[in-house]
Amino acid sequence: MHILSNFPYNNRVFFVLVVLVLASCTSSNPISLAAPEAIAGVMDLREWDFEQAGSIALEGEWAFVWNELMQPDQIATSNQVSHVQVPEVWSDYEIEGSANTANGFATYHLTLHLPDSEEVYGIYNEGQGSAYDLWVDGHLLAQNGHVGTSRETMIPGKQPAVFFFQPEEEAVEIVVQVSNFHHRKGGFRNELMLGFAQPMHQDQLQLWFVQAISFGTLFVMGLYHVFIFIFRTKNKASLYFALLSWLTAIRIGVTGQNIFFSLFPGLSWSLALRVEYLTFFLSPVLFVFFLQSLYPKEVHRWFIRIVVALGVGFSLLLLFVDTLALSYTPEYYQIIYFLEIIYYLYFLGRIMVNQREGALAISLASVIVFTAITIETLALQFPLPFGPIGPYSFLAFIFVQAVMMSSRFSKSFLRVETLSQELEESNVNLQESERKFRKIFEDSKDVIFISGLDTTIEDVSPSCEEVLGYTKEELQQNTLGKFLLDPGELSQYQNILMDQGAIKNIEIELVRKDGKKIDTLVSVTLREDENGKLVGYQGTLRDITDRKQAQIERLRALEMEQLAITDPLTEIYNRRFFDEIAEKELERSKRSGSSLSVIMFDIDDFKHVNDTYGHLIGDQVLENLARICQENIRTMDFFARFGGEEFVILMPDSGEEAALETAERLRRVIAEMPMAKNGELDVMITISLGIATLETGNSIGFNELLDRADQALYESKNDGRNRVAVWGQTSQ
Ligand code: GH3
Ligand code: MG
Ligand code: MG
Repeated sequence: MHILSNFPYNNRVFFVLVVLVLASCTSSNPISLAAPEAIAGVMDLREWDFEQAGSIALEGEWAFVWNELMQPDQIATSNQVSHVQVPEVWSDYEIEGSANTANGFATYHLTLHLPDSEEVYGIYNEGQGSAYDLWVDGHLLAQNGHVGTSRETMIPGKQPAVFFFQPEEEAVEIVVQVSNFHHRKGGFRNELMLGFAQPMHQDQLQLWFVQAISFGTLFVMGLYHVFIFIFRTKNKASLYFALLSWLTAIRIGVTGQNIFFSLFPGLSWSLALRVEYLTFFLSPVLFVFFLQSLYPKEVHRWFIRIVVALGVGFSLLLLFVDTLALSYTPEYYQIIYFLEIIYYLYFLGRIMVNQREGALAISLASVIVFTAITIETLALQFPLPFGPIGPYSFLAFIFVQAVMMSSRFSKSFLRVETLSQELEESNVNLQESERKFRKIFEDSKDVIFISGLDTTIEDVSPSCEEVLGYTKEELQQNTLGKFLLDPGELSQYQNILMDQGAIKNIEIELVRKDGKKIDTLVSVTLREDENGKLVGYQGTLRDITDRKQAQIERLRALEMEQLAITDPLTEIYNRRFFDEIAEKELERSKRSGSSLSVIMFDIDDFKHVNDTYGHLIGDQVLENLARICQENIRTMDFFARFGGEEFVILMPDSGEEAALETAERLRRVIAEMPMAKNGELDVMITISLGIATLETGNSIGFNELLDRADQALYESKNDGRNRVAVWGQTSQ
């Protein structure tokens, strides 16, 4: 857009070194405010101190002839002359017969009065729209493009230049022919700067230097980021950044000092204009892509679409439209710039609020660019003491971005370094723990196995050879079913695993390679990968054959022991064990001074039961009798089968009374309950009981005690059976 803005060459222009400036700025010379102006085609500079005040703009009223391309001698004597303000575009003139047009041709004339000196002077001319010829004292000094009286006969051109002359006399005649048919702004629209040759030349070199170095810097920066992109194509930001840098470089090349024209003198004005516009139209497109690649979440898709559509749309115009029509487009595109800036302000707010990386830097840089664009746009309406700051502000933006991106890069390098260091450490730890677990695995007496989902063994500890007889290699090609007694059971175990997630310590009988069966304790769990996906099983298998054997033997011994002391039919203690216990109990009761009773009983007429119902029913009666008696005595009482159908109860800590009570209860219970069934018939029996008690202080032996109980029993029998007799109460 800045091509449209005037570039007032206000006196001395100082550019600070570009890498440090945020915007190019000119230092206005305060004396220029009081500079004289041309009046009626004459400018008197005899009092102007070029040494101190520097160069001066040849502004004011120039003599003017419209629609004529006059030679210097012609205009000096012409009577068609009017006076117009310079610089000014024709569309601002009120010229008779030309209704506010931009197109046309004209001749300008100014008589200068210079101080009396031998100095060589310079005139800086940015260029006039869109071609001009300039004479000083009748010598053609400068030409830009080729002036003509029609679109066909003229050739546009715009190349800022300084040219030098030495005044022959005190009055200097300057004549300028201008023609335009190619741009919306025609006329003598950039002022001529007049000054001493030396500083003038210096100033232009400075300008040229700043632009050239800006161009070079941007070009190299673009190149650098293109390579970053090539080596890591994921990094789209680098690509857009590179393109943006190049676009800005190109823009600098075809504007201002037009350094491209210095490099390529044959470059056509029309092509340069199109290139300039292209950079103007495409910059927002690359800018939005750049921002989107940095902050994908904050840039809206609809916004990108609009920006791209407009940028590409305007760019397409460059192919089809002539320069005159094209020169109107930037005004519209500027409005688009403004609307985009409004969106970007909102966008910057969002990345700041979301605390995105580099948000502050990018916001500051963006604000500089937006401000510059705004100022430049305003400069179209109001004269400002600035040059084209857009590309330079953009340069500033690009520098900030470069700093930010480098910081991003070094941060990620730092991260990579830290990560790889941590990785190395954790690798060492991992190896350590791997070694530990390997050792457990290798040394384990249990078989540790890992299998796939199809139960194919993937790894197994070396102990498999001892436990199962298979080597690790033999097992690795097989499934877990290989050593199952019935390989068909494998699927059952799999089902349990799936249902319950684990099998814990179940005993499974397995077959060794040599055919020997072994008992094992097996635990299996599900094996998942890092994503939680089921990939197989893992488990342990312990040989418990020996332990199992020992257990069986212990049980057997226990059983034998039991057999030795119980009566096989009634499962109560036998006589042998009773004798053993009774002896001890008697001693104990004597020691503690407590009483001890013995109840002895015998089934009445049992021979008759056997005879009537058979021996089997007789046995049943014995079993039931024993069971019922056991239920009706205390746990501390000791009940045993004395022989045949005779039983004995030892009652520790019990006197005669307690024994009598128990005996009476048993007698009653037995007499009332059927002891067996013979078909429908209940088999009823009675018992006769005898009691003998060892009272405190008594010192009879155990046999003596038993004998007394037996005597009492005998007494019961004699007295008619189904009764209880206590020794010593009826007979001695
Ligand atoms: P009482 O005691 O009232 O004088 O008459 P009784 O018929 O019970 O006489 P005795 O003591 O002489 O008979 C015991 C019978 O018990 C003899 C035997 O056949 C029977 N007997 C002993 N041991 C068993 C046994 O283990 N099973 C069966 N069915 N009968 C047995
Ligand atoms: Mg009997
Ligand atoms: Mg008997």
